[in-house]
Amino acid sequence: MFNTSYIEISKKAFKNNIRYLKKIIGNDIRFSSVIKGNAYGHGVENIVPLAEEAGIDHFSVFSAKEAYDALPVMSPKSRIMIMGMLDDEEIEWAIENDIAFFVFDMGRLEKAVETARMLQKKACIHIEVETGFNRTGFDYKEMPALIDYLKKEKEHYLFEGLCTHYAGAESLSNYLRIKNQITLFKRFHRYFSRHGLNPQLRHTACSAAALTYPNTIMDMVRFGIAQYGFWPSPETHMFRFQKDSSDANPLRRLLSWKSKVMVVKEVEAGNFIGYGSSYLANKRMKIAIIPVGYANGFSRALSNTGRVLIRGRRVPVIGTVTMNTLTVNVTDIPGVERGDEVVMIGKQKRLSISIASFCEMSEQLNYQLLTRLPAGIPRFIVT
Ligand SMILES: *Cc1c(COP(=O)(O)O)cnc(C)c1O
Repeated sequence: MFNTSYIEISKKAFKNNIRYLKKIIGNDIRFSSVIKGNAYGHGVENIVPLAEEAGIDHFSVFSAKEAYDALPVMSPKSRIMIMGMLDDEEIEWAIENDIAFFVFDMGRLEKAVETARMLQKKACIHIEVETGFNRTGFDYKEMPALIDYLKKEKEHYLFEGLCTHYAGAESLSNYLRIKNQITLFKRFHRYFSRHGLNPQLRHTACSAAALTYPNTIMDMVRFGIAQYGFWPSPETHMFRFQKDSSDANPLRRLLSWKSKVMVVKEVEAGNFIGYGSSYLANKRMKIAIIPVGYANGFSRALSNTGRVLIRGRRVPVIGTVTMNTLTVNVTDIPGVERGDEVVMIGKQKRLSISIASFCEMSEQLNYQLLTRLPAGIPRFIVT
């Protein structure tokens, strides 16, 4: 009721993925579940409880806002870590609520220490170092000043983590750049150690790094895309395929996206279908209108190229995708009627439409497609 499409999240698939990823990193390594971007479109309120059921007690988000949204659905025993945006006022909230956060410049560090002093409560910090991604992180040349400051303010923070992020571990073409980042990270770590500053957790790996560079695993891994059942890239999949020496894909996608047929109708030959003249019916055709458009996450780039499943058959999108509808050609499928299930992503009978194919057709990255699925689409957990 009150929705034109819905998303199903498979609990079984999620458990399978966590089991596989834990096997790769080993039991002693902390597993941080990355739930930024509304858990990659899956819904934090769905993923957090499933992850906790699977034994995960650490979650990574991008901003204070995302931490704020995750807090109410999280067990008090679980930890949240903010990897990106946090403004000065939010630092106070984070420290009060035992939320850990990345620190990548002196400004934020000083603010954290100042706030911790005022609250008389330690800030849990993860110092991010710049190893070559060139987004956030302390530069090597800032180390002397940073170390001095950290030594001086020791009682106001807990040095929970030392971390960095790789610049494209999913692509073999970045191999050298990643190797250099690993080397530089180790240098940073030795520098801190020499001065008696020892982080509880060294963490650098995202999914692609953990799956393809075992020496990036360290004390904790920040798993995003892989826990949702997607390979960061086809290369990552190939690498594991050889290493695991198994034919089966060890990752299972959690998400299916479904709707139903709104109207079925006939169009006489010689008429254009939809806005403008991008699709001409060159014979008598039967079409079905689906109440899902670009406002609902179905990219307009899929006009005249996308595919959906109806009655166990793959049918093409014809004409332009509009704000709230798309049209498909069902001329050759007998019996299609209003209310028939439509699968945009997922399985129907023996066929399936993957996000990968969807991404290829619309030139999107799986990360982008997932996070653009509107938060308003209802999501249900299925077993
Ligand atoms: C998003 C993100 C991750 C997770 O990346 P995946 O490729 O989805 O595994 C890890 N670390 C940081 C800093 C991130 O921003």
